[in-house]
Amino acid sequence: MFKFAFFSLIFVRYLHMIKLDIMKKIIFNSTILMLLWLTGCQQNKPKTVAQSPIKKQISKPIAKIFSYPKNQYIISQDTIAPYDTFGKILSHFHLPYSSIYRITEKIKDTFDVKNLKVGRPYTLLSQKDSLDSLARPKIFIYEQDPVHYTVIDFQDSIRVYHKSKKVFTHRKTAKVVINKSLYQDIADEHLSPKLAMELNNIYAWTVDFFHLNKGDSFKVIYDDVYIDDSVYVGIGTIYASVFKYGDKDFYAFRYPTDTIGKQFDYFDETGRTLRKQFLKAPLKFGHISSRYNLHRYIKYYGRIKPHLGTDFAAPIGTPIMATANGVVIKKAYTSGNGNYIKIRHNGTFSTQYLHMSKFAKGIHVGSIVKQGDIIGYVGMTGHASGPHVCYRFWENGQQVDPLKIKMPPAKPIDPKIKDQYLKDIQKYIKQLDRI
Ligand SMILES: [Zn+2]
Repeated sequence: MFKFAFFSLIFVRYLHMIKLDIMKKIIFNSTILMLLWLTGCQQNKPKTVAQSPIKKQISKPIAKIFSYPKNQYIISQDTIAPYDTFGKILSHFHLPYSSIYRITEKIKDTFDVKNLKVGRPYTLLSQKDSLDSLARPKIFIYEQDPVHYTVIDFQDSIRVYHKSKKVFTHRKTAKVVINKSLYQDIADEHLSPKLAMELNNIYAWTVDFFHLNKGDSFKVIYDDVYIDDSVYVGIGTIYASVFKYGDKDFYAFRYPTDTIGKQFDYFDETGRTLRKQFLKAPLKFGHISSRYNLHRYIKYYGRIKPHLGTDFAAPIGTPIMATANGVVIKKAYTSGNGNYIKIRHNGTFSTQYLHMSKFAKGIHVGSIVKQGDIIGYVGMTGHASGPHVCYRFWENGQQVDPLKIKMPPAKPIDPKIKDQYLKDIQKYIKQLDRI
C-alpha cells in the first residue's frame, strides 16, 4: 500500500508540471502502469514467503523529453501567450537579461525569436543553479507546428537545432457527396478540413468551388499523418482523386513533373496538367478596382497617365500570391511603387506586385516561387489611395493587360515519362473506382 501511495504522489506531481493535452496520454499510460504493477503484486504474493528478498533488476529506458532525459530537468510547458516574448518567458524563469541577450544575439541567424507565434507550445528545461539554488532554464524548445520544433540549448555553449518529430502515415481513401457545402460535407464525414483546401488547390482550374451542386462528389486516396504513432496531425500527400463535377469526372494524379523527379504536380488521365500557366488574380479575395488603361486620368498627378497595371482592392494584410512559378528578381521599395516584388516566369513573362504592406517571410531576390505561393501582403505603401495590389504583367519587356493576353498552354507531363505515367496511374484509377 505504501508503494501505491508513493506512486500516486509522484503521479500528482507530474500532473502539476504537464500540460493538459498530453495529460490524457500520461493518465492512460500511468493507469496501465498501475494496473501492471498491481497485477504484478498479486502474482508475487504467494511466492513472497519462500523467495529470497533479492529483487530482479529491470533496466528501464530513461524517459526522455525532446531527447533530453526527463529526470535531469525541471520541465515547464506552456503555450506562447499574446505579448509573450522570448526574453519575457526566460526572464520570468530567472534567466538574467545579459544571458538572454547573449542567446538571442548568438542564434539570430538561425532562429529569429521574434517569430514565436501565439498559441504554439514551448517547453523549458531548467536545472538548479549551484550558486543560488534557483532553477534556471537551460533549454528552450519551441514547436512551430505539430511536426517541427526548434531546440535552443544554452547549457554550456549556445546551440540551435531544427528538428522534426517522427511522422507516421496511413494510406486512406474517402468519398464525399456534396449535399450542403464542400467544407460541411467533409466535416460531416469526420475528415480533415485540410482535405477541402488541398482539393481546392488541385482543382483550382477545373472545378468552380463556389458553384458546386448537390450530388457532385469526390473520391480521394491520401495519407493521414500521425506523430508518435497516435497524435493525428492532418492530411499528408494526396495521391489521386476524382471529382465528379456535373456529369464529368475529373481525375488528378500526383506525379513528378520530369525525369529528375524532385517536383510534383497533378495531371489528368491523359497527362495534361491541372494548372493553367497564370492565376487570374494574385489574390484569393478582393475585386478589380482599376483595370489596365492607357488613358486613365490620375488625380494624384493631375493629368492623364496610363495605368499599366490591374488594381485588386482588398483589406490590408490579404496574402498576395505569385500568379505562376518563377524566380523573384526584385524585392525593393520606391516612393511610387512602395514595397514591391517582381517575378520572372520565363523568357517571355514577368509579373510585378506593388504597394505591399510587407513581404512574405523567406522571400528574397533569387527565391524560387511556385504558383500560389504567398509573396507578400496587401498594403498601401507608395502612391496608393487605398489598400490594393497593383498587378503588372510584362510580355517580352512590354507591359500588357493580363486580362487580355492569350496564355500559352500549360505544360503537360514530360514526354519522356508519359508512358510510365499512363501505366502507373492505372492502379489508382482501379482503386478510385472501388471506393
Ligand atoms: Zn495600379
